[in-house]
Amino acid sequence: MQDCIFCKIIKREIPAEIVYEDDHILAFKDIQPAAPTHLLFIPKKHIPTFFDLQPEDSHILGELQRAAAKVARDMGLTERGFRLVSNCMKDAGQLVWHIHYHFLAGRTLQWPPG
Ligand code: C5P
Repeated sequence: MQDCIFCKIIKREIPAEIVYEDDHILAFKDIQPAAPTHLLFIPKKHIPTFFDLQPEDSHILGELQRAAAKVARDMGLTERGFRLVSNCMKDAGQLVWHIHYHFLAGRTLQWPPG
């Protein structure tokens, strides 16, 4: 998708601090961290929202969760853990129209979110 900022990060057209990559998933540091560790996990395929998911996309989100667990393990977070959360549409606060999961860790997080 030409105007999508996350597609541009995937294509290295704009910079990001990439922490994980495989055939289907990219993860990088959020530029406005809301926690000591704040990463974004995205599918490389441009999918604007969950409402656009197709049956053939199902494996991508499973792989994304496994990638998040791998990164967490590598960061030594198996005991303290992390939060993986995704905002879908405007009431949830979605600003970038390419599915992404916020990976938050490094402090005790509040629940429910605001
Ligand atoms: O869930 P939402 O769509 O609001 O989150 C978008 C996130 O993308 C924000 O946390 C923002 O800081 C991040 N972002 C980024 N790098 C960019 C543009 C946005 O990390 N170049």
